[in-house]
Amino acid sequence: RLVLGIETSCDDTGAAVLDEKGAILGESLHSQKEVHLRTGGIIPTVAQRLHRENIERVVQEALERSGVEPSQLSAVATTVKPGLALSLGIGLEFSQRFVRQHNKPFIPIHHMEAHALTVRMLHPVTFPFLVLLISGGHSLLAVARGVDDFLLLGHNLDEAPGDTLDKVARRLSLIKHPQCTTLSGGQAIELLAKDGDRKRFPFKTPMGQTPDCCFSFAGLRNQVTMTIMKQEAEEGVEQGTLLSCVNDIAAAAQHTVAAHLAKRTHRAILFCKANGLLPSSNPTLVLSGGVASNLYIRKALTIISETTGLHLLCPPAKFCTDNGVMIAWNGVERLREGKGILSPNVDICYEPKAPLGVDMTAEVKAAAIKLPS
Ligand code: ATP
Ligand code: FE
Repeated sequence: RLVLGIETSCDDTGAAVLDEKGAILGESLHSQKEVHLRTGGIIPTVAQRLHRENIERVVQEALERSGVEPSQLSAVATTVKPGLALSLGIGLEFSQRFVRQHNKPFIPIHHMEAHALTVRMLHPVTFPFLVLLISGGHSLLAVARGVDDFLLLGHNLDEAPGDTLDKVARRLSLIKHPQCTTLSGGQAIELLAKDGDRKRFPFKTPMGQTPDCCFSFAGLRNQVTMTIMKQEAEEGVEQGTLLSCVNDIAAAAQHTVAAHLAKRTHRAILFCKANGLLPSSNPTLVLSGGVASNLYIRKALTIISETTGLHLLCPPAKFCTDNGVMIAWNGVERLREGKGILSPNVDICYEPKAPLGVDMTAEVKAAAIKLPS
């Protein structure tokens, strides 16, 4: 069985062909990151145009590299939710035309489900497991109980951690920093933080008084911005030209993001244990999403998993960020179980907003689990 996966939910046009064991037969990825880095964020109409210009070539490339003809495919899997409407639309439109032309089953994919399941392509992880997904558009904690069976324990109430790091980096004009010209905001912060003193700016960890597993990063960004403004005023320099304490600000911001993520995850683990949601033998925490490539953040989550007896798994960076492979893999998993497979003529719509799984956030909050100090 062979599945073609197509991803266009944000700023990556990706396609891949996988066999049913998860072997990647061919893949292609066109990233728009450079363009968006120059314009200081994703402009949806630009993202749409770039997806439109690249999708045909990317899919062709993945097929050619795999040596698989469209007629040999068992199904086509495509991200249809959540994401940028204009971006999702291009992938869906292309896919629906493709499956009709070649008369193939269509498998609509939830982008976050795909991020959560990718680990199973690489490691023999069985359900249930806990997953923390942290990226430019999301942060969420969920128990993965099956291919299409998730319990949502927490999600971001405002912006996502990657978005916050990107905005801080932009406010500091890190793109002009000689070491950072080609790096994403998050990567730039990680690099500069290495030479910084995180204690110089003691930012408050968000939501310290709220005993749930949701996330908030907008307040932290505000704290960081205020500090930057204060330092700029003290040093008498123009906006975005701070030099002396950039490393310390990066280190403190990164540390606070890590601390917030670790605390929410710690509470989620305790909630799972109290409610028997994870297996008693070898319980696993899966970490993924673009922000998961940050080694400082990974270390913080390693410490939490070690103290709570969980085994931490994190796919390599190329599988943590958006790609066609994870969508094809999700298609393989759904095909195996016969879940959500549509005939080519069924019309479906994309959904820019789509929570993952059963919402348990109120139950988590009601449990009011205290963390050991
Ligand atoms: P989503 O998957 O939610 O749709 P996305 O496509 O923006 O969002 P990814 O491609 O998974 O997300 O990740 C991109 C984000 O990860 C960016 O915000 C980037 O700054 C952040 N990021 C990348 N590398 C690092 C790093 N080393 N440290 C921190 N953040 C990082
Ligand atoms: Fe993603």
